[in-house]
Amino acid sequence: MRTKRILLASPTMHGEEMKYIQEAFDTNWIAPLGKNVDSFEQEICDYIGGGYAAALTSCTAALHMALKLCKLKRDEVVLCSDLTFSASVNPVSYEGGRQVFIDSDYETWNMDPAALEKAFEKYPEARVVIVANLYGTPARLNEIRAICDEHHAVLIEDAAESLSATYCGRQTGTFGDYNALSFNGNKIITSSGGGMLLSRDEAAVKKVRFWATQAKDPAPYYQHSEIGYNYRMSNIVAGIGRGQLLHLEEHRKLKKEIYERYRNAFAELPLTMNPHLACSEPNYWLSCILLDKEVSVDPFEIMKRLDAHNIDSRPTWKPMHLQPVFADRDFITVNDLPVSEEIFSRGLCLPSDIKMTEDEQNEVIAIVKSFF
Ligand SMILES: *Cc1c(COP(=O)(O)O)cnc(C)c1O
Repeated sequence: MRTKRILLASPTMHGEEMKYIQEAFDTNWIAPLGKNVDSFEQEICDYIGGGYAAALTSCTAALHMALKLCKLKRDEVVLCSDLTFSASVNPVSYEGGRQVFIDSDYETWNMDPAALEKAFEKYPEARVVIVANLYGTPARLNEIRAICDEHHAVLIEDAAESLSATYCGRQTGTFGDYNALSFNGNKIITSSGGGMLLSRDEAAVKKVRFWATQAKDPAPYYQHSEIGYNYRMSNIVAGIGRGQLLHLEEHRKLKKEIYERYRNAFAELPLTMNPHLACSEPNYWLSCILLDKEVSVDPFEIMKRLDAHNIDSRPTWKPMHLQPVFADRDFITVNDLPVSEEIFSRGLCLPSDIKMTEDEQNEVIAIVKSFF
């Protein structure tokens, strides 16, 4: 029995992070804001190709601010990815809106443009869409963007899992009017916890910075004309993010190697890996499997056996329309069997930690193979 657990995805530090933290200490710019925050925002914009950024305490905060920019009316419908983490869609409720969930397709596991079209037929008044790029794989972003444009809807891209992935040669986190990144501990790079709102709209980003620092009016005393939030990233946290950003390409390369080793090892098994379109290059954040329909193996049994060998794995996201908290929300699909439910019932996320050795990955592979 191994004593060191093989993890799904954990932080991988390199040393440069300390240099930026040290700088913040040396200048006593521990908090708030400061040079690391400004530089981290600029470096992310440079990396993804322009625009403006507001560094925040989390991606959830970034999505919240994006929805606040949309000025939702009470109970206004927001069309959202169904197969995603709850943080993608909870902020709709913070802003008094109402989620309507959109099914996935099998080619990307992300929002199905056909289901989105169908949703606009049922809710022609909808004017906000939230799309997530799951496991580092871009959604059909051009199609989704085009549908949003046709319906004059704002697109919010949740790129929490997909930083450095590209779609038709363009970085994810640039397709939405507002885009959100996460630097949470398990993501491809981490600042220990944090997020960023990205947009080409400079005024919008300035407004978010204002709201995120308690909405202080430009007055010589504490005056507030709007409700504020304490959502800004600290200068120490931004320092970790800057150090990590230097290693983003390296992380992506290692993630891809992990994915390809699984894919080659499982080539003969009745399962497929999380897929992507020919025009997209994922960041391979998590390697996942989807058991073929006729297979009688329960992914939870695989998870249990891996766990017994001290190896982490996770179910794929449980669809939002199946969550008790969203039991009264609508769900739009173009299939008899919703794709999101199929992926949930037959899918599993495998260890994708870039510190995992080849030998360790071979252990994971052997255990998965033992089921067939
Ligand atoms: C991690 C994640 C979030 C939330 O990110 P935080 O920075 O932890 O708030 C949102 N959406 C998706 C798809 C995620 O994976």
